[in-house]
Amino acid sequence: MPTKVARVVIAVFDGLRPDRISEKLTPNLHRFVTDGLWYREARSVFPSMTRVATTSFATGSHPARHGVVNNAFFHPAISGGEPLDTSRAAHIRVANAWHEGEFIEAKGLGCALGAAGKRLAVVHSGSAGSAWLLNHRAREHGHWTFSIHGRDHTDTPEAVDKSVERFGPLPACKTPKLDEASYATRVLTELVLPEVQPDVAIIWYSEPDTSYHFHEIGSPESDTATAHVDACFGKIVDAVHASDHAEETLLIVMSDHGQISTTSAFDLVGALRESGFDAGYRAESGTKVLVTPGSAAGLTLVDRDLSRLQALGAALMEMPETGMLFSRSGENGEPVISGAFDRALVGADHPRSPDLYWVGRSSAEADQHGLAGAGVYTTGVNVPVGGGMHGGLNLFEMNTLLAFGGANMPAACVNDHANLTDIVPTVLAVLGIDRPDTMTGLPLDQVLGRPALEPRQVRLEAGAGDFRQYLVLAADDGRQRIPFCGGRI
Ligand SMILES: [Zn+2]
Repeated sequence: MPTKVARVVIAVFDGLRPDRISEKLTPNLHRFVTDGLWYREARSVFPSMTRVATTSFATGSHPARHGVVNNAFFHPAISGGEPLDTSRAAHIRVANAWHEGEFIEAKGLGCALGAAGKRLAVVHSGSAGSAWLLNHRAREHGHWTFSIHGRDHTDTPEAVDKSVERFGPLPACKTPKLDEASYATRVLTELVLPEVQPDVAIIWYSEPDTSYHFHEIGSPESDTATAHVDACFGKIVDAVHASDHAEETLLIVMSDHGQISTTSAFDLVGALRESGFDAGYRAESGTKVLVTPGSAAGLTLVDRDLSRLQALGAALMEMPETGMLFSRSGENGEPVISGAFDRALVGADHPRSPDLYWVGRSSAEADQHGLAGAGVYTTGVNVPVGGGMHGGLNLFEMNTLLAFGGANMPAACVNDHANLTDIVPTVLAVLGIDRPDTMTGLPLDQVLGRPALEPRQVRLEAGAGDFRQYLVLAADDGRQRIPFCGGRI
């Protein structure tokens, strides 16, 4: 158990692959994970997309519980024939109003802290939607969420006003997002920690994710971005050490998912049309199958016709680009598409979920920079071929950075199972705050000084015809089953 913890500071590096941590590229993070408790086998959620991961982290639960089932998904009652885009503040506000404040169906870290009379401050440099999802009741609890995109992109615009007053105009948006990271770091270290004085502070860097996407994972631009956010983290460590609470501050570093390199862009909608399905990215006259693109595409049938869904699954299994398929189960407990996995196995079974999750085929093969992990994604995504993507269950998409330090945390590198959904329950446990019953994640034993259970895994296989897929679930006794990795055989 760490010594008494009075404050928790969490630094999130969007998309950072743990195998990119090194003494040369990331000296500050390297020192931190080496000196602290490093969960080498930490995992994201499915689909491994930023807003799904953000909500899963914040609420300690999987999409089946919180309802953010992809970065964008069809929700006809709210957005008609267009997908609901969770990155956009306007879409989120409409969705939340339609759901009478319950768009997020699980309680978050902010809710638990607020109920205990404690405060959460968020410094965010990603999308407005992601900032909101981190603490969706920030205003109600009198909390503090700063967005690098400006006062219209947060429910607490006073956080932006105060920052601009202190540090000048918000930086212009360009890639790599170095100025934004520097600005956010100043907000955290010079304003939030010394003056706002929250019980829990979260800073979210949108790098290296952005550079991985647009400049390739192993590129000089991505290395520049990674080294820059590492230097920013060094400033956070210095600020924590210089603060009144230095001995009582628990520091956590994490990423929300990894990335793999794209080898080709597959025209999924075109292929479906060639197979006789009226597919499209939005509902137009005659469209029967609505598609959200990506590495983990969502397919929704307008009329929910079961035989059409089964025919769709069979057609996708014949396509070499298909890596994995997940559908719901029928009354007999078997997936309605023979050969698909039940989406409930990966915590993605929600009424808002698409009828079918399609995951692009991927492998552990080295990319153009010699980094392991490469795969197919669909067209319709603003990422060049060769750039990084995420969403599926490839090991290098699912493996996340997770390490705890400070507050006399012992140095250890452990292979215990740890999921994004376990982090907030762990934070609440060290602060002595009750965990809301909507949280399915559990406190991490090693952080609390308890012996961990032996990590166990189960491997499942499914398929039909020439299509075979596997899924590995982490399955410790007494713990939730969490998706570990998977792919086509
Ligand atoms: Zn992300």
